Amino acid sequence: MIRIENLQKSYAATKALDGIDLSVAAGELFAFLGPNGAGKTTTIRILTGLTRLGSGRALLNGHDIESDGIAAKRQCGLVPQHINLDSELTVLENLDIHGRLFGMEPARRRQKIEELLAYVELADRTRSLVKQLSGGLKRRLMIARALMHEPRILFLDEPTVGLDAAIRRRIWALVKRVQQDGTTIFLTTHYIEEAEFLAGRVAFIDQGRIVAIDQPHNLMARLGHWAIDQVNGEGMQTRYFPTREEATRFSAGQDCGFTLRRVNLEDAFLALTGKKVL
Ligand code: ATP
Repeated sequence: MIRIENLQKSYAATKALDGIDLSVAAGELFAFLGPNGAGKTTTIRILTGLTRLGSGRALLNGHDIESDGIAAKRQCGLVPQHINLDSELTVLENLDIHGRLFGMEPARRRQKIEELLAYVELADRTRSLVKQLSGGLKRRLMIARALMHEPRILFLDEPTVGLDAAIRRRIWALVKRVQQDGTTIFLTTHYIEEAEFLAGRVAFIDQGRIVAIDQPHNLMARLGHWAIDQVNGEGMQTRYFPTREEATRFSAGQDCGFTLRRVNLEDAFLALTGKKVL
């Protein structure tokens, strides 16, 4: 559904993307995980036609984003990082305008709006002005808007940034449902738990390069399954173990404090890049 070959993009002296290659199959939920400035938003902006690529090639459902840009764009629904709804308009009007922009007939728009507002649980807010909605409701409306024209691929750029934990989980449930209903999802995040919980496969991105792509459990298993954190004179040290028994055996011989925990994606990212995601 998504194919990217040697994608490069520079802004003056900054190499935002330094040769990205990846493929995402139809129906996958794929996550780009990386720190600020890694190149996540740039990738989404290029794929959705908001920024020109520097060099390389990208295809969306077989349509080249450069030579077949309009068809490629029709494959995409985009939920950008920053809220860009029309705050002086109602929930319904925001969806209706989007439908018009995509040339949807009035009857089809009405039907789709009703269906989507029920889907994202906003049916009781149809006539509310967007400026009256909370952050979580605005995010759900942005997802509904991105799905209006029935795209094959949904791009979500940091979909839960700034939301509290309970609301974040509701968005996760919604994103999972969209995937289960057949849409391919490409999301960027710098939240470890978000990538671990949602993604079938994760790409670690750092300084415009992909450093690893795999299923979350495989990325973590490269280190082991259990970790022991210890604070000593040199700061925090973490050791990894294949089994809980081996970690416990090691900890029995320690006279200073430690924490025993499961290995997470942050450990895997740190091991590969030498830096934390956040
Ligand atoms: P964040 O989560 O902070 O948005 P990101 O991983 O999405 O990070 P990008 O926004 O893609 O990263 O930025 C990648 C690099 O390109 C950064 O060094 C950034 O400063 C630079 N960059 C992005 N957009 C522009 C622009 N329009 N002009 C100049 N430099 C840019």
